[in-house]
Amino acid sequence: MSDRQRNLLLCTAVLATVTAGCDADPPLPPDDQPRPVAVGKADGAIDFPAPAPRYHSFGEVESYLFDVANTFPDVAALGVYGESPEGRPLYALVIEEDPSFEDDPSKPNILFNFSIHGDEIITVESAMAVIHTLVTRHGSDDRVDDLLADLEIVIVPVVSPDGFAARSRTVEGVDPNRQFPHGGDPNRVGISIIEDAKALYGFYRFEGVLDYHAFGELVMLPWGGSFNRSPRFDELATIGIDLANGVGYTPGQLSHLFNTTAQGGSADWYHASGALSIGIELGTSKAPPESEIPFVAAEATEIALRYLEHFDPR
Ligand SMILES: [Zn+2]
Repeated sequence: MSDRQRNLLLCTAVLATVTAGCDADPPLPPDDQPRPVAVGKADGAIDFPAPAPRYHSFGEVESYLFDVANTFPDVAALGVYGESPEGRPLYALVIEEDPSFEDDPSKPNILFNFSIHGDEIITVESAMAVIHTLVTRHGSDDRVDDLLADLEIVIVPVVSPDGFAARSRTVEGVDPNRQFPHGGDPNRVGISIIEDAKALYGFYRFEGVLDYHAFGELVMLPWGGSFNRSPRFDELATIGIDLANGVGYTPGQLSHLFNTTAQGGSADWYHASGALSIGIELGTSKAPPESEIPFVAAEATEIALRYLEHFDPR
């Protein structure tokens, strides 16, 4: 990342136009939540999909995100909603027709989170594949066109960039996916990347959240912190069974799939906050051989498209 990019990231203006200056005082979004801040252009293109499948570094993922925003400005805008303790930007890519960092109240908002566990590196390749499918099929694939016209899609390819860079499940000595407020600790303040994730939710109030992990070939429904059924279990199950059927995964309630409870996970918090949130365990390894990346990424993409279709009012 160049110095110019870094400077743009530090810009506090809330602007859809990436080349604008940093002088404006941003208006506060609803509930005083910060929204993603638009970021600037990159020069460092990466080849994606790579001619031979391979894993990409955080810097390469950054370059890819900048490339997407540059190449497909009619459907993609890159923002930053925070910074990790080690200084890595927390990126959110908005994908929709005429993308902006405004919340259009007439459209359902959907969030895809990847790599809250930094060692599950197949999820980051999957994030790039989902993005690639949405932006490159736009204009030629009715299935994608309908989704981009009707929904506001926000993709966070790396929730835990310090963990990803270190290939570590934990950051700051804890599992990030246990740091959300929960029934036993409703006022919990977790680590900064999770507080930033909560703020992003606070701005968009996503109707749907998919949280991608690896591995296990599972479609996991809340609750994970309890064996009780959610009041919205039927809605969750309808979506979850469809996702699972699309790729041959096993659907179920988190706590029942694992026959144990774990509090502070993302699916529970987003669901308690109002989203029909679902967790995905991709494939059969956190980091399968590079030759297998396209197959797992294709499953992740089919899951994403099916999930989006459940929220499309069309
Ligand atoms: Zn995980």
